[in-house]
Amino acid sequence: MRKGFRNSVLKGAALSVALMLALPVAGCAGKADSATTAVQTEGVTSSDVAEQTKATKEAAPDVTQETTQVTTTAAPVTPNEFTLDGVKEHHFISDSYCYLESEKYFLLLDKDIDLPGDFAVTVDVILDALEEELGLSALPDDYEYSGVGDRSIFYDGVDPWESLDIGKKVPIILLADRNAIGRNSGATGDGADLAMLALTTDKIWEPGSPLAQSGWEKPDYVDYSEIAHELTHVITGRNCEMSKIMSEGLADHMMYVVIDKLADQYPTIAETKEKTYRFDFIIPEVVNAESAERIFVYDFHDRNHAQSGAEYVIGRYLCEYLRERFGREFYRTYNDIIKAKHLDYVYGNYKEENAQAFADGLKEAFGEDIFVQFGNWCVEKDVLQYVYVPE
Ligand SMILES: [Zn+2]
Repeated sequence: MRKGFRNSVLKGAALSVALMLALPVAGCAGKADSATTAVQTEGVTSSDVAEQTKATKEAAPDVTQETTQVTTTAAPVTPNEFTLDGVKEHHFISDSYCYLESEKYFLLLDKDIDLPGDFAVTVDVILDALEEELGLSALPDDYEYSGVGDRSIFYDGVDPWESLDIGKKVPIILLADRNAIGRNSGATGDGADLAMLALTTDKIWEPGSPLAQSGWEKPDYVDYSEIAHELTHVITGRNCEMSKIMSEGLADHMMYVVIDKLADQYPTIAETKEKTYRFDFIIPEVVNAESAERIFVYDFHDRNHAQSGAEYVIGRYLCEYLRERFGREFYRTYNDIIKAKHLDYVYGNYKEENAQAFADGLKEAFGEDIFVQFGNWCVEKDVLQYVYVPE
């Protein structure tokens, strides 16, 4: 397994010297920014994390919708390549659009991104672990690749990645959200868009800035579980379609699985495990033998993520149950059935018979009574048994 091959290569004497001195390194234009050394130490409350985590998990179709409304009018931009040295305390600051190429992905940086030196090697191990756990490749041969795609909506009409040929690799786009509009992270098979405040420069949080006025706090650590969640969407999205409960539930399940698995080996990931608050979203109905299949087919199709969150927690427990009974191959088994049957699920165009076909696929994979068994397991484990009743 090759991890972070290109990331360990330093380019240019100025960059090397700055990194040896543990100075922040300015982005592709080579300008140092001393304001970026400070590390925020204020804590983030559990409820803040819960809110933020939920907010970051907005579905990707919103991104696609937004993107299609824009036409590019600005002059072309040529992004520059950068590398990281693998040392967490060393920082790379982008002051122009730039990219890093790893074995399986390209990191595509907005301006005003502040990356710890171990960011890419950490993403490398997460992506490898996800592929292993899912039994799927992030770069399958039979996916219809469309390159980076036009994201000019994010960059005031400029499309900095227009000339970049990424082949089959995953585009991972890091957005600064400097105007505090509340961008969410999202992903499809085409790639991941990450809006993570922990990865922004202190410069865009200076007094008077939109971020300073937003009342938000810059987290003092990088939440790699959010990245694991979105990268799960990328890998599965390149392999088959999925209903909403399974898609979000699997992404949250895999996020916990790989963070727990890698925490012992990687201190940066241990920090994510220690600092992220794990919680169950509220659910509108108890899950048991009677309700499990009906809820799976209903799929919260008439609710958006901001209203619900139930799909995350119900899907996550479903995946936990399936892993407990059938081992980690459970997802690959289900994936292969969805592919063989050419099952189709269009977000925003819910059809009950399509959702039922995904439920029938689960029965085919794991037995006719799989939903009854899952419902009984929930009751036994005392999970998904408490509903929110508004006062
Ligand atoms: Zn998601």
